Amino acid sequence: LLLIQQLHHELIVVPSRRNKKSSKDLTLLSPRTRGIESQIGNTPLIEIKSLSKITGCKIYAKLELANPGGSAKDRVALAIIRHNEQMGNLTPYHGDIIFEGTSGSTGISFAILANALGYTAHICLPDDTSPEKLSLLRALGAELEPVKPASIVDPNQYTNAARKGSDRINNDPEDPRHAIFADQFENDYNWRIHYETTGPEIWQQMDENVDVFINGSGTGGTIAGVGKYLHEQNSQVKIILADPQGSGLANRVNYGVMYDTVEKEGTRRRHQVDTLVEGIGLNRLTWNFKQAEPYLHEAIRVSDDQALKMAKYLCINDGLFWGSSAAINCVAAIQTALKYGPGQRIVVVACDSGARHLSKFWKQASDIPNDITINDILEN
Ligand code: PMP
Repeated sequence: LLLIQQLHHELIVVPSRRNKKSSKDLTLLSPRTRGIESQIGNTPLIEIKSLSKITGCKIYAKLELANPGGSAKDRVALAIIRHNEQMGNLTPYHGDIIFEGTSGSTGISFAILANALGYTAHICLPDDTSPEKLSLLRALGAELEPVKPASIVDPNQYTNAARKGSDRINNDPEDPRHAIFADQFENDYNWRIHYETTGPEIWQQMDENVDVFINGSGTGGTIAGVGKYLHEQNSQVKIILADPQGSGLANRVNYGVMYDTVEKEGTRRRHQVDTLVEGIGLNRLTWNFKQAEPYLHEAIRVSDDQALKMAKYLCINDGLFWGSSAAINCVAAIQTALKYGPGQRIVVVACDSGARHLSKFWKQASDIPNDITINDILEN
């Protein structure tokens, strides 16, 4: 990687210390070879045969875990970087820094793309982030800033810490570097890249014939972008939110009230979602989720117990070793198949692999017996 970076460096004309406010010459970005970033997107779509067989529907998964950084977040990270390059906010090999607050896949995508494209990734994350994610981010050479887990209203929460870090660099006249705060929850380029790429890919791979699309919401970017695109192709497509226990989004979608349950429990201000599932579920509204709302047909609540059993079921019956959010989507898929009857063509997203969840979710899923059945899953 170092050698490649040096090669890049020789190819790119590097101006001396620059005025932070000046816009960059885009020709500086052109002499790049096609690196790992060229492999983002165009992910495969597979059929989940066991679920199709048992339901009489056709259930497919968009394998976002096949992206080079292991998740759908590669698309978003690349879109945010490219946009900022075009705006003159990032120039490769100037020491420019990408700040993001994340405990998950987005940090990994930014760390990989920062290395590939000549930036530094600075990731603010809660200090209880799972050991395998921390080790991966360390291996990738990202700057890590662990902070105490806190509500989004706390100025030291990881998203706020990332914003502050970026401001600190940009407001320092002595520091020649420029920083961006990626802000995946509120960034418009998040849902837009799914609208421009993931949605059209699914539509084509399904031969323009989709009845239902199901996904959870972390930032909401995937379900918003794909949901809007599919809805525009055929307004009959049902866009369904799969929501983990502890998240307020399902209530918001089904009853128009987000905080009712959590408020009663006195936890409204905590904002954190109490579930084993990582990457999805929220107790606040984000810009990206709001973009999904006009297209959402309904939400399905899934318990951790159901998700654990489904993860094991897919692993044993289909050889699919997936993360917790993919398992949630599949529980919602069989419930949808039962509700709307056989013959439906249902697409879910498999956002990441089980390998990212070994120490938490899969530690428990591993104990589930191999002969787990769909009835066992539906009973909970
Ligand atoms: N699954 C996993 C494992 C994730 O990390 C995320 C993103 N946090 C999602 C699903 C949901 O994606 P989005 O942010 O687009 O809603």
